[in-house]
Amino acid sequence: MKKKKKKIRKYIRLFIVFVVVLIIVFAVFVTLKNTVLKPSFLKNVSYDNYVSINYYDIYGTHLNFKGEFENKDNLSNLKLILKDNDKEITIPWEIKENNNKIEFTTNDYINEGINLESLTKGTYYLLVKGQAEDEDIYYPLENNTEYNNLEYYTLTKNGKNNKIDITWDNYEGNEILKFQIKNTSLPNDVYDITIDPGHDANDTGKLACSNGSPVTNSGLCKTGTLYKESDVNLALAKEIKNQLENQEYKVKLTRENEKDTLPTYGHMGSATTANDTKSKFNLAIHHNSSGISGGSSYLKGLELYIANDSSLDLAKLFVKNITEYANTQTSPKTQDKIKDGIYQRFFTEKEINEEENPPANKSTNTIYYYAIREVGGIATHAYNDGRYDNLDKNPYYNSNNTAESYLFEMGYLDNVQDLRNIQSNKEEYAKGVVTALQEYLK
Ligand SMILES: [Zn+2]
Repeated sequence: MKKKKKKIRKYIRLFIVFVVVLIIVFAVFVTLKNTVLKPSFLKNVSYDNYVSINYYDIYGTHLNFKGEFENKDNLSNLKLILKDNDKEITIPWEIKENNNKIEFTTNDYINEGINLESLTKGTYYLLVKGQAEDEDIYYPLENNTEYNNLEYYTLTKNGKNNKIDITWDNYEGNEILKFQIKNTSLPNDVYDITIDPGHDANDTGKLACSNGSPVTNSGLCKTGTLYKESDVNLALAKEIKNQLENQEYKVKLTRENEKDTLPTYGHMGSATTANDTKSKFNLAIHHNSSGISGGSSYLKGLELYIANDSSLDLAKLFVKNITEYANTQTSPKTQDKIKDGIYQRFFTEKEINEEENPPANKSTNTIYYYAIREVGGIATHAYNDGRYDNLDKNPYYNSNNTAESYLFEMGYLDNVQDLRNIQSNKEEYAKGVVTALQEYLK
């Protein structure tokens, strides 16, 4: 009996020792992780002077910051940098200085700023750097927004992707912004590009007859074949998808069949699929109609609708390549036009005043088309927060991580010349879209 008790006591003692050792190892590991394993330069950051971040947003392939701080140490040569132990990458910014108070933005265009596609594998910290005499001083960033960590998958290139985790991390209790970039493969539900063939089986969009004869009030053609915009959009979207997939991009269509219907703001809806799938681009494919019957619409050609506050680099490439490849032209329409073939359709004063009740948060800098506005979240002033009885809430209206969206009106279905070209030249329209993206992303 005594022997047995002794044995049990021995085992209990051994167990206690084991638990204590485990706790010590864990504590050492945590300490190491927070100090030794973090880059040594974090020790030298001036945690007593924070740079306040008031806005940050990923739109498409670009990340932007807005912030302010006080230049307490009278630093010269101020820079925004991504730093690791070996190198510093300077991030271009625009700064305004007023009595040592500095305001900055990485870019005023929502689709410019830090190009996330260009960052290479590693762990970096975003800091403001300056010089006092011969000494380098670093200020950390502090999150003063309602937003949190961001996650980004780069576009597929040679079958490979990076995952970028942008995390509000801490160093010995101090807030610090970390960028961690790792090689990865795309999760099943993450895509590069979403294509939304505008409309669906319930809402077919514009109608036209093949020979230009007028569409009757009941939506039929007296002679010739009836073309529904929804079907024409789908056929072109599928062709663009094929060609993009030949370039190894992972592409999601919002709908696959002529008979499909889809919600606007529900899961995998026309305005949500791009963000549900973490796509970087959303291409809304449409075809136009002037409403002038008889096939002689003087309106014809391409209109590309873009977001507010946008650099035109990609838009110009779309217009150039589509018109060249498809042998079409830009539309003569002047309303909302900002450049040849490029349009920005904002709400007008009148439309805002005729507001539904309760009123939406919109201004004359708010884009009219939901396929652009609601897809872009805060970058494009999405406002569908669920206040309307007849509309579901857009789950991304307040998102700061969204797809860059373009709405293509490829041509006029009630212009016979355009219609023929759209029917016979689909591959070339698609080639224009795909080539533009390739040139932009090169
Ligand atoms: Zn349409």
